[in-house]
Amino acid sequence: MTPSHPQADSGTWSVDGLALTTRPRIGQRQIHLDFHTPAEAGRIGDQFNAAEFAGTFTDAAVDHVNLFAKCHHGWSYYPTELGQVHPGLDFDLFGQQVEACREAGLIVGAYYTIAWSAEDVRRHPEWAGLDRNGAPQLFHMDADADPSDPRPIVSWEFLCPSGPYLDAMVAEVEEIAERYEPDGFFFDICFAPPCFCRTCSDGMAELGIDRDDDVATLAYSNERWANALAALRVAGGVSESRWGSFNGTTRIYGNDEHAPAATSGLHVFNTHLDLEDLPTTWGGYDKLPLRARYFHTLGYDLLAISGKFHTTWGEFGGYKSQRALEYEVRAMIANGARCNMGDQLHPNGVLDSQTYELVGSAYQAVEMMRGHVDGARPISNLALCVSVSEDDDQGVARALLEQHREFVVVPASRLDPSEHQAVVLAAAPTSVDVYESLARYAADGGRILALGDALSECPPDLASSLLGITASQPSTADGDFTAFGGELGHLGAGLAYNYEPGWRHTLHPSADSLGLIHEAFFDRTYGQYFSHQNAPPLVDPTSFAAVHRYNDHLVSAHPLGRLYLRHGAEVHRSLIWSLVEMINPEPTISVHNLPPGGRVTVLHQPEQSRTLVHVLYATVVARGEAVIIDDVVPVSDVKATVRLGHQVTSVVDPLSGRERPHESEADGSLTIHFPTVEMHAVAELRH
Ligand SMILES: [Zn+2]
Repeated sequence: MTPSHPQADSGTWSVDGLALTTRPRIGQRQIHLDFHTPAEAGRIGDQFNAAEFAGTFTDAAVDHVNLFAKCHHGWSYYPTELGQVHPGLDFDLFGQQVEACREAGLIVGAYYTIAWSAEDVRRHPEWAGLDRNGAPQLFHMDADADPSDPRPIVSWEFLCPSGPYLDAMVAEVEEIAERYEPDGFFFDICFAPPCFCRTCSDGMAELGIDRDDDVATLAYSNERWANALAALRVAGGVSESRWGSFNGTTRIYGNDEHAPAATSGLHVFNTHLDLEDLPTTWGGYDKLPLRARYFHTLGYDLLAISGKFHTTWGEFGGYKSQRALEYEVRAMIANGARCNMGDQLHPNGVLDSQTYELVGSAYQAVEMMRGHVDGARPISNLALCVSVSEDDDQGVARALLEQHREFVVVPASRLDPSEHQAVVLAAAPTSVDVYESLARYAADGGRILALGDALSECPPDLASSLLGITASQPSTADGDFTAFGGELGHLGAGLAYNYEPGWRHTLHPSADSLGLIHEAFFDRTYGQYFSHQNAPPLVDPTSFAAVHRYNDHLVSAHPLGRLYLRHGAEVHRSLIWSLVEMINPEPTISVHNLPPGGRVTVLHQPEQSRTLVHVLYATVVARGEAVIIDDVVPVSDVKATVRLGHQVTSVVDPLSGRERPHESEADGSLTIHFPTVEMHAVAELRH
């Protein structure tokens, strides 16, 4: 199996034999049981009791467990003939765990670490990933630290997945696959920075790649990872009957952990996509909805992975509240994903009883929802094209989620006006080809909402013909103000401060301005400054529009997504809401009487001939370093009007089996009543 280079048009790897025709066997309610255990832990597994171990899972309504074959410390938990058995282990802990769980009817995954393996890099310093200067690639580690210095959390040294280390991993994975025949493999840490070790340097030299070219070295790095993942996939026997998950390959955007962006296409090695996200400390509860919508469109089944930890992985003694765990699993299902809660096993091999009371309570609450994510895909006539900027996209996504307006995330090339009434582009596109796709979509009747930097790369003739912009330049001001007019006058008579300046667009005479930009007296500097913060607005406006309409399209000069995400001002959210209402006047769903903290999803399950409308409500508040689920208060008399374009034969509550009150409207839409929503309510619309 040889991966080719990413294809220019799709940005995805083309790998023979990867397409699966059947769904891999994975659980609905999983536990990912971390067991990164150093030699210093001493004797391990000495209290392990196979029956108790498996019974704890089944009592908690768990149906799938990922168990540790080899951990980040580099130790194996089975009698390997190839790697290093944990020095404190004198029996086959992994084997006994696998056997016990399998006897209890659980699906079993084998966990195997890739780029972080402390014992491997200690024994083989030549396997380390190296930066351009030949220094080891460290994650959250200080190379000069003394052994007695406090160590930051999540701190490891990267290994390079090539050469002899790849050969060693392949042999170990084959050993695990042959001896234990797990139902699947969870390969962790499938990412690292571009590497300049001997193997990689020789490989790049052979291809004539300039070591100082960031783009070329990243492409080589992705190629190197594709080769490693392909080899590990074969070694693990990943196939129609054995799932394979390569953690770190399912991010939309590149991130500071060096996980590759989705444009690398490395996600194709997975049989389903694991979306790992611990919302309490990884950025809140609105990241999964955007990410799930992105990967749903690519046609994969999704599994959402969070943790029982209050903060993140590795936290012994940290517990989320039961209401947070229950909200999380319900939100996973509402986003069309199976559920996985991470836990960490004590060195003695005994599962923590409080954890399984909490997780069990959450899992039992959703046990009847089995099958409600199989093949589920969000549906909406409002589309979002992801941009290069996570903050801009995430801010728009948050505003849409708070507006309870379902949206789908699609590549611009797949926009179709018969399916998508409108599209939002929140910042610069991932490729200039997007503009041509948008032009085709608009020519066929689609409507465009472009925000902030969305047009920064747009060819001038297209900006003019499509969006009525004859000239355009960014502003260097430290902020500016908007005076709303026309249809946006309801947003306020005052001059609203924008924490970043908008683009200065010169418009075609037939474009309609819906508000003008006012400059401030001056930028705030040491030489001239006003009061505590920004200078006031000049009374006279500039000639530049903050928002304009051209034909059916709308343009905001300001990056409303990141302004809302970073500053949270009501005016920017209200502006996004108003603009979306203007371009998407007949939304797939509109919801009444639900506060902005509520979340609504519309999932279609074509194989089951049904559509699911999920309504969630809980308050998410910041507490210290974390966000927590606090009050869960009932919300009354919520109504959702859906426009599905096909006949609905019945509306039921799948949690109770009872019919849900509903009525057909004159325009063909259907209004569903939710008399009370206490955390979560579902309507199942049968076709
Ligand atoms: Zn390397």
